[in-house]
Amino acid sequence: MKIFADYHTHTIYSDGKGTIEENVKAAIAKNLEIIGISDHGYKHMGFGVKHHLFEKMRYEVDLLSEKYPQIKIMLGVECNILDDRGNIDIDDKILKYFDYLMAGYHFGSAPTKWVRGIRNHFNNYVRTFNKFEKDYNTRALVNAMKNNDIFILTHPGDKGEVDIMEVAEASIETNTLLEINAHHKNLTIDQLLKIKTLDVKYVLGSDSHTPENVGNFDLAIQRALEAEIDFSRIYNARR
Ligand SMILES: [Zn+2]
Ligand SMILES: [Zn+2]
Repeated sequence: MKIFADYHTHTIYSDGKGTIEENVKAAIAKNLEIIGISDHGYKHMGFGVKHHLFEKMRYEVDLLSEKYPQIKIMLGVECNILDDRGNIDIDDKILKYFDYLMAGYHFGSAPTKWVRGIRNHFNNYVRTFNKFEKDYNTRALVNAMKNNDIFILTHPGDKGEVDIMEVAEASIETNTLLEINAHHKNLTIDQLLKIKTLDVKYVLGSDSHTPENVGNFDLAIQRALEAEIDFSRIYNARR
């Protein structure tokens, strides 16, 4: 089995340690056929890419594509899911720069409605079991997939509990890949087992924050193996 693409890598444009070129070189060294650069959406208060820098990233990716024709370099973004209506931090000014969109829930994202949003972040952070937050988190992920053209839903259920069956059903309906993330614990083995009978499509992501970890899927592969996920369901794997 070969994993031929890594769509989830971060660079110094957000909280990664390497440049785009360093991630590309690392991907070539690991014989990947496709490398995706996918830094954090601009509404992440800690390390979102500054809105005006996406244009520069696009330019850099295009230059590097000419320099390294042996690999396909794509520009994505890991948008923040901002509320339970499924709003994400993308707009028409920047949408044109990306080859694909990913979206995930992150603590540091700026809520669209401050009181409700901060309460959601806080309750998720302290991990109080709270059915209201679980429902809110689930609606957030489901509506994000329904209201946006998202290629990959990153680490579903990380940092905020969700009803994974509902999320999985919405992913099928909207043709969205659910990520098995090598850097975070989700999808967990438990989650994978729960949705195993559904026709879900997965993708493995390194979520690398250093060039060395580009193409490092070890922990994700382990969980996929343990849950006995059929590899034909994994978008970036082939025999
Ligand atoms: Zn993330
Ligand atoms: Zn990430």
